[in-house]
Amino acid sequence: MDINLDIEKLIALRHRLHENAEVSNQEEKTALIIVEFLEQFKPNQIWKNIGGHGVIAQFKGEEKGENVGFRADIDALHIAETIDLEYASKTPHTAHKCGHDGHMAMVAGIASYLKKNPLKKGNVYLIFQPAEETGEGAERINKGLSELGIKLDYLFGLHNLPDFPKGEILTKTGTFAAASRGMVIKLFGKTSHAAEPEYGISPVIAMAKITTEMTRIHRTIDFSDLSLATVIHSELGEIAFGTSPGYGEIRITLRAMKDEDMSILIDEAENLIHKYCEDDGLGCEISYTEVFPSTTNSDEAYNIMKDAATSMNLNFKQLKTPFKWSEDFGQYKLQYKTGFFGIGSGMDCPHLHDEFYDFPDEIIEQGVKMYIGLINYFGLHS
Ligand SMILES: [Zn+2]
Ligand SMILES: [Zn+2]
Repeated sequence: MDINLDIEKLIALRHRLHENAEVSNQEEKTALIIVEFLEQFKPNQIWKNIGGHGVIAQFKGEEKGENVGFRADIDALHIAETIDLEYASKTPHTAHKCGHDGHMAMVAGIASYLKKNPLKKGNVYLIFQPAEETGEGAERINKGLSELGIKLDYLFGLHNLPDFPKGEILTKTGTFAAASRGMVIKLFGKTSHAAEPEYGISPVIAMAKITTEMTRIHRTIDFSDLSLATVIHSELGEIAFGTSPGYGEIRITLRAMKDEDMSILIDEAENLIHKYCEDDGLGCEISYTEVFPSTTNSDEAYNIMKDAATSMNLNFKQLKTPFKWSEDFGQYKLQYKTGFFGIGSGMDCPHLHDEFYDFPDEIIEQGVKMYIGLINYFGLHS
């Protein structure tokens, strides 16, 4: 096994991707850079524009074997680059502040490795997924894979984790990252003169009740694990002192560690909203956006990841508690067996989405090694 990983090349790739950061659904240049990088390692096939600007590369073994996928997210964030980097983002008010540039470099590293160590069996698919931050990409890639007739036996993904030692591999069984979704509530009433509110239907009282009750719903309902509703925005009427409002909107982020609790939270929230609207004769419309199912690992997936890390002499640690943030990787579990893990990005690394954050290049090597460990686990070289 030749695991000279050409880390310098991967670091250069990471910097190039960082310079050309693009937000969700605009990852055109990013996809071009990825394709250009992959081509030098001669994958059997490269598919472009999958689910937006997604890229999938296939490395094929001669014999039949497992189909194993590795997913990297590719989008950056609407956060300005304020740190002094040689490879600072050239895109205005946009930068890789979640480390997806590093995630791409690590999955790209598999291509370099497979060029030197061709597969004997099965297939490896490198999946570069757009629009993770908005929760749209995974579902679209799922559809893209189905349309291409690709059936994965296992799909793996990772996220870098500030506040954990550099290069440490961390995972757990059960929930790894929470489920979340954006709830949009529209309340339809009737305007009237501010002097005659009795002739109108103002959403104001229902809105006050909904925001209050939703904010304390985690205390009034018995959930099996941490569940939360956070009111993030509300809007009522127009700025016109002569008019009593006839329309209002509330936006609430729902979050739960367990998918079952998310279902309960949705049901309870919808019942409560409909009740308050009916009480006041308001029309009501509820819709959802940025839907992330929870990211979870089965015992089997956990054991595979533990084996892979140990076989590559990586520091492996079992996480005790799941993360309260969400990852759209959870979407893939609806279609395939999946495994998700974290890789420590250092105790002094700024937090994800912090303007001072920059992915630490030193952990690229451990990430690629973990992926190699997983390829070996499935015996695709023997
Ligand atoms: Zn993020
Ligand atoms: Zn991220």
